[in-house]
Amino acid sequence: MDTSVDRIADPWGGRTPYRRHQPWPARVDTFLEPGTGPESVQRWVQTASILHSDGDAMDIAVRDGRMVGVRGRVSDRVNRGRLGPKDLFAWQANSARDRLTRPLVRRAGRLEETDWDTAMDRIVERSRELLADRGPGSIGFYTSGQLFLEEYYTLAVLARAGIGTGHLDGNTRLCTATAAEALKESFGCDGQPGTYDDIDHADVIALFGHNLPETQPVQWMRVLDRLAGGDPPRLVCVDPRPTAAARRATVHLAPRLGTNVALLNALLHEIIRAGHIDHDYIAAHTVGFEELAREVSSCTPEWAAGICDVPAARIREAAEVLGTADRLLSTVLQGVYQSHQATAAAVQINNLHLLRGMLGRPGAGVLQMNGQPTAQNTRECGANGDLPGFRNWQNDRHVAELAAVWNVEPETIPHHAPPTHAMQMFRFAEQGSIRMLWISGTNPAVSLPELSRIRSVLSQDRLFVVVQDLFLTETARLADVVLPAATWGEKTGTFTNADRTVHLSDKAVEPPGQARPDLDIFLDYAARMDFRDRDGGPLIGWHDPESAFEAWKRCSAGRPCDYTGISYAALRGGSGIQWPCGEDTPEGTPRLYTGGITWARPDDCESYGRDLVTGAATDAVEYRAANPEGKGMLRAAGYLPPHEEPDDRYPFQLTTGRTVYHFHTRTKTGRAPQLDAAAPDVWVEASAADASAADLAEGDVVEVRTPRGALRGRLRITGIRPGLLFVPFHYGYWDTPGGHRPADGTPGRAANETTVTDWDPVSKQPLFKTAAAALTLVERGNGTPSPAPTTTASAPWRAGAAPPTTGGRSALVRQGPAMPWTGPAGGGA
Ligand code: SF4
Repeated sequence: MDTSVDRIADPWGGRTPYRRHQPWPARVDTFLEPGTGPESVQRWVQTASILHSDGDAMDIAVRDGRMVGVRGRVSDRVNRGRLGPKDLFAWQANSARDRLTRPLVRRAGRLEETDWDTAMDRIVERSRELLADRGPGSIGFYTSGQLFLEEYYTLAVLARAGIGTGHLDGNTRLCTATAAEALKESFGCDGQPGTYDDIDHADVIALFGHNLPETQPVQWMRVLDRLAGGDPPRLVCVDPRPTAAARRATVHLAPRLGTNVALLNALLHEIIRAGHIDHDYIAAHTVGFEELAREVSSCTPEWAAGICDVPAARIREAAEVLGTADRLLSTVLQGVYQSHQATAAAVQINNLHLLRGMLGRPGAGVLQMNGQPTAQNTRECGANGDLPGFRNWQNDRHVAELAAVWNVEPETIPHHAPPTHAMQMFRFAEQGSIRMLWISGTNPAVSLPELSRIRSVLSQDRLFVVVQDLFLTETARLADVVLPAATWGEKTGTFTNADRTVHLSDKAVEPPGQARPDLDIFLDYAARMDFRDRDGGPLIGWHDPESAFEAWKRCSAGRPCDYTGISYAALRGGSGIQWPCGEDTPEGTPRLYTGGITWARPDDCESYGRDLVTGAATDAVEYRAANPEGKGMLRAAGYLPPHEEPDDRYPFQLTTGRTVYHFHTRTKTGRAPQLDAAAPDVWVEASAADASAADLAEGDVVEVRTPRGALRGRLRITGIRPGLLFVPFHYGYWDTPGGHRPADGTPGRAANETTVTDWDPVSKQPLFKTAAAALTLVERGNGTPSPAPTTTASAPWRAGAAPPTTGGRSALVRQGPAMPWTGPAGGGA
């Protein structure tokens, strides 16, 4: 029966309970703008969500050439018709009045509107000058986790084989670099072992540093539906905040920040000690057991309890649940990835699964999650610091193979050193060796750590900055050339979610003004630069999304991310398809490693690995000696304390993160009225014990200060672990008088004013989750509550301390039963 639900007040909507091993029932969520009934929708156009990594499939409702709503696609395996709050409401930002509609160029210090030829000629002229005077290493590209596969692949070809630079990375460095690196360290290659379907079969689901309810709300709905059905799974949750998952967990561990390796080593210690390991699997499919067993042999729960500030008994309890699971699904995200031993910790979760033989079977899987919708494509297409097709930059055969696909000489493709990571690119720009930085679909002036430094890097006269985006973001305001881009719904392309499901997103409406798809912009640049292959033909021979996809298929052939069996036609109408999908796997592949760790063979692997402490790259000889047959690698790592510990001056630990209502720097979600109203401004979370010790109350204006800088916001007292502060990272300055920074004389608002320029040595992912901070009162609240939502991990510790977060009539969403798919010709599902 149809119901209407306020999906701001209830982000996860109603329940459709189901039992273990049963299919997840469908539920179709639909939101149409007020005054639009289903009968007035003229077309439904297929797409998927671009606001998180879940890949929720949906249809865009179109009337009179405008987007007027969305509806979940019941035919899709990922969401079976459900949508999260951002899916439901954020599309409204596409028609925001302040979209960029014309290119801008800086003249006499000011950005002025211009035409495409003028803007592109300026970029081409600067590129040519730099190539002639300083060489390809003077040009860098910093892209996103939100463009489409076809766009990343084109960018990778033009940067690596056209310009010949190794300076190409994505903001996925902030997000999924550790996921990719941990998979390479354990399995020799990127590629998610598990699938979302494992939620249907697992009897234990473990969430490590992963606020699933807020980052992938639709998969949390799936867990909630299992919890509401017969035979529910037990949950283990490792998170210092009282997330919705923590509240439902059988065991919730809330460790001190930066202590994940100690905690995980103690869990492995207990699991090995209790004999909960699969000796046959270990013997057949892994190397490194003795070293791992030796490393964790002294890591008792009591030892870890002293480091993590978690009771030893609770660690034992968690180990018992993990060790006795019949089918274990683990998911991992930023609580693990954005810390000083990020890869070392993420790898221990892979170790848990290798030790228990929990891979490749329904319900037994690891999801080293992504944060962004298209992060997987940034990685596989080679736009994030790896070579396309998960090829190994240290393997000459792989480089030669890529050169053959592109018809260039192997030396054209920089592979003398590891590709440059984003943090290093900004260092090179600061030091002056990078003189042109082309930033597409990302906003480093809010999202990178230590913002005062980033603003000064981007403001240098000697650095030519190109920004390609939808809005005049904080970063765009510092650019020399701004290119207006089209977004999803305004262009066609594919993208791949965190469980390897490829979706097609079709164009539904025209982009505003002169805005162009990112693919067209990159193709235009390549044509103006006249990039050629070794026979003098055009380097890039494709001209539209589908021909770009076909070119990518040739590049992916025979690699783990094989797309050769997928086509636009196959993606239209039904469900997304999980890669690898080739001749032998025409329906796609739900789970990797069903018959051993096949991509770890020395000749095939994407990486020979790195030292988990120093990050130094291992070479082919060392790899072959340690893993001659190519098996799963049990990698040991000792615990090291965080780089910045609290002291008298900065007595708190500080972590940053996200809320269910916003994405990234709010460029889209801040322009959707329901989402903006649900979480309109920055806030600071602290525990009741810490608030009371400092005589602070809900709604007081407080300042959070670290050695890098400060921000101010209203206090929310929550059930967060004592000694810890939390600040959401979404809030910047585009909607303040400062524009791109705090206005003179006003306090900072962005979380990254306070974070540190430092990164995990292996994955190079910055440390957004461990800083030492001070908390002080600025002004009493006088009854004004904090703008933090009450529906999430930010819920007030004392019930009723703040008015409940609701969306009212404007947030009512129809939740209905499944309707049969009638195909695109019939106007959609
Ligand atoms: S906001 Fe989340 S998804 Fe986006 S880059 Fe940061 S960590 Fe990744």
